Amino acid sequence: MNIVDRFINYTKINTTAVAGHGNLPSSQNQLKLAALLAAEMRQLGLKVEEHDNAITIGTLPANLKDPKRSVPTIAWVAHMDTSTEYSTDTKAHIVDYDGGDVVLNAAQNIIMKRSEFPELGNYIGDQLIVTDGTSLLGADNKSAIAAIMHAMQLLKQNPEIEHGEIKVVFVPDEEIGLLGAKALDVKSLNADFGYTLDCCEIGELVIENWNAGEFHITFHGQPAHPMSAKGKLRNSILYAQQFIAMLPGGERPEYTENKEGYYWVKSITGSMAETRIVVDIRDFTADGYEARRFFIEKLILSFNELYGEGTVSVHYDAVYRNAGESLQGENRYPVELAIEAMQSLGIEVKEKPMRGGYDGAVLSERGVPCPNLFCGAHNFHSIYEFLPVNSLNKASEMVFEIIKRAART
Ligand SMILES: [Zn+2]
Repeated sequence: MNIVDRFINYTKINTTAVAGHGNLPSSQNQLKLAALLAAEMRQLGLKVEEHDNAITIGTLPANLKDPKRSVPTIAWVAHMDTSTEYSTDTKAHIVDYDGGDVVLNAAQNIIMKRSEFPELGNYIGDQLIVTDGTSLLGADNKSAIAAIMHAMQLLKQNPEIEHGEIKVVFVPDEEIGLLGAKALDVKSLNADFGYTLDCCEIGELVIENWNAGEFHITFHGQPAHPMSAKGKLRNSILYAQQFIAMLPGGERPEYTENKEGYYWVKSITGSMAETRIVVDIRDFTADGYEARRFFIEKLILSFNELYGEGTVSVHYDAVYRNAGESLQGENRYPVELAIEAMQSLGIEVKEKPMRGGYDGAVLSERGVPCPNLFCGAHNFHSIYEFLPVNSLNKASEMVFEIIKRAART
């Protein structure tokens, strides 16, 4: 099968993640995609492990002529779910890009304008895979799945190419908190290092991401009828309002970029009696992260001192850590290998910090160093998500090249 057909096939299974109900996978169609991938991997000669939670692991044994040679086991990790912004089915199609605006959907007048998406200019003469403007494309992360599977197909077609043991790992529910990666049994995976292909345009390389945490903060009030409220009513909505107002004003997602961290008020629900807010903190440095965490905790203490013990209660979750902390020293080898592979393919390496998390951050924290490589697509989580065919091919060539290079050293 060619790589484009492979990719488009995967986009036909709607694997939108569904947040909040606690099941893994969060949507049944992820199991459907997992079953398809398991069957394809078996056809390609991999031994496959399928789990009820949709985690699907293929193993391709090493084929070294000298079996005593020590070659690292590499895990290739991609997520099967798509993000929750759009749950509509994806209808992907291919356009030959000539440099103008891209009409995604003529009937509904949905157009991707070159003026709004100037990066389109890099792809004149290329083919683009786009949506019909009513859903996301799901190249995040199905282009990675296609790129990895295509590389496995090339290995099957070229048995003379030596390689170490390869693990192909498909996980569910990256988009709702890296849940699949967190459920993965990293110990039995037994990989020396891994890669995700979960960043964007051709050449991108992520070896740093956020330290991320989430506070669920509840304000407890004392309701009263307004006729007798004087001196008695304690309105939890106003406590929450005051708390939010005390967070550093400029340190919000909408005011920050590059390596600037932030506090992010994500939700608020409540009544006079009880108001709940969710506040996320993000920072690239461990010290900066701890300072933000301390700031929130101190603010909660101050509220309880001022308004009485028990006015505010809190639940804190550490969500993921910066993979950069793990990709140091010897563990930098997979980074160097990826850079060499990209350069040998004539790809300009664009290293950038990721203002988000990815499955590899979880793996890195748990002892499997895992940089994040490009999958080739643009505009993740949007109806304007598009995948240049050339970039998809390059992503797959990169996978293949890394595997070959790792077996040489
Ligand atoms: Zn992704």
